[in-house]
Amino acid sequence: MIPSVLPTYARAPLSFVKGEGSWLTEADGRRFLDMGSGIAVNALGHAHPKLVAALTDQASALWHTSNLYHIPQQEALADKLVDETFADTCFFTNSGTECAELAVKMARKYWFEKGQPERTEIIAFEGSFHGRSSAGIAAAGGDKLTKGFGPLLPGFKQLTWGDIASVNEAIDENTAAVIVEPVQGEGGIRPMLDEDLKELRGICDRNGVLLILDEVQCGVGRTGKLFAHEWAGIAPDIMMVAKGIGGGFPLGVVLASEEAASGMVAGTHGSTYGGNPLACTVGLAVINEVSQPEFLEEVRRKSGLLRQKLEGLVAAHPDIFEEARGTGLMMGLKCKATNIDVVNAGYQQEILTVPAADNVVRFLPPLTLTDDEISEAINRLSKAATSLEL
Ligand SMILES: *Cc1c(COP(=O)(O)O)cnc(C)c1O
Repeated sequence: MIPSVLPTYARAPLSFVKGEGSWLTEADGRRFLDMGSGIAVNALGHAHPKLVAALTDQASALWHTSNLYHIPQQEALADKLVDETFADTCFFTNSGTECAELAVKMARKYWFEKGQPERTEIIAFEGSFHGRSSAGIAAAGGDKLTKGFGPLLPGFKQLTWGDIASVNEAIDENTAAVIVEPVQGEGGIRPMLDEDLKELRGICDRNGVLLILDEVQCGVGRTGKLFAHEWAGIAPDIMMVAKGIGGGFPLGVVLASEEAASGMVAGTHGSTYGGNPLACTVGLAVINEVSQPEFLEEVRRKSGLLRQKLEGLVAAHPDIFEEARGTGLMMGLKCKATNIDVVNAGYQQEILTVPAADNVVRFLPPLTLTDDEISEAINRLSKAATSLEL
């Protein structure tokens, strides 16, 4: 008999009743070290006092009105994001997938309004993840996402990850935009080289093509800059952000330059919940913390520590792990053992990690993780690896 919850997830036999900082308490009382943050969502850990205060204050004042009216909390967050980034304007959503929908619509509408309605095609990369909507799965391609869900939304093609030269050949008079994650998350923690991202920006500029960056997973301080593309010293035309920005409250946002957003006039897009006062109040509290230079500096310092210790772990368990990779607090261990076995062995040691493609185990801890928690994570992972060596 089908369960009352549609069984689309392969869930671990764990359920949590309370969270604090980097720790989650299981229903049976065990305390797990959370190195996954609900897939890069709890950027400030669990129950951060400032987020709890922001949400509960707003909850006692007003939950929802509608985008029929002005929403001051939305305007405050948009102003902050415009101040901190390349963007001139923001549209709020409830998820990363909804950001993919708008990014695609915005790019196509841009060319339509420029009198080039044939420019609808979007170039993406193999191994990407842009969400589970029809546009999201068509953009990413790949059998795992698309099989059985045809006919796919037309107008997407995928190039080999890392092959920037192929973008030049793939662009033609029908190309609207290129979409890419500066660091692939689901694809196995694969950072794009800064030179490659710069080169991609150059190719887009020379061909007048829009560059869409999907920073749903790698944005909001995750790499040690507020947004990952800042490392390459470039700016996108359109950027998708979700996951970390809500700190656990559902929130996404599409940021854009005035030029890229120029087709999106009144009536062209909307969302009932998008930019709701609760979500935007929490989002502003998250960005106010994460955008502080000292906060980001700490992420970079802890990244160095985690990296060094993960490399030590690989050296100590060469039959289980192959290499450490990633950037900021977005790291992966490519495994020799099966990644799911490593994640499961971690559960036995009361540590949460997240599997990814390419046989990788992902680490996306709260950005507020302490040095002691990094050491503790490595101890637990080492025990997990040892249990697999027996
Ligand atoms: C998670 C993710 C999405 C989809 O976000 P949802 O909030 O699950 O809809 C899109 N792009 C990237 C890079 C992601 O990691």
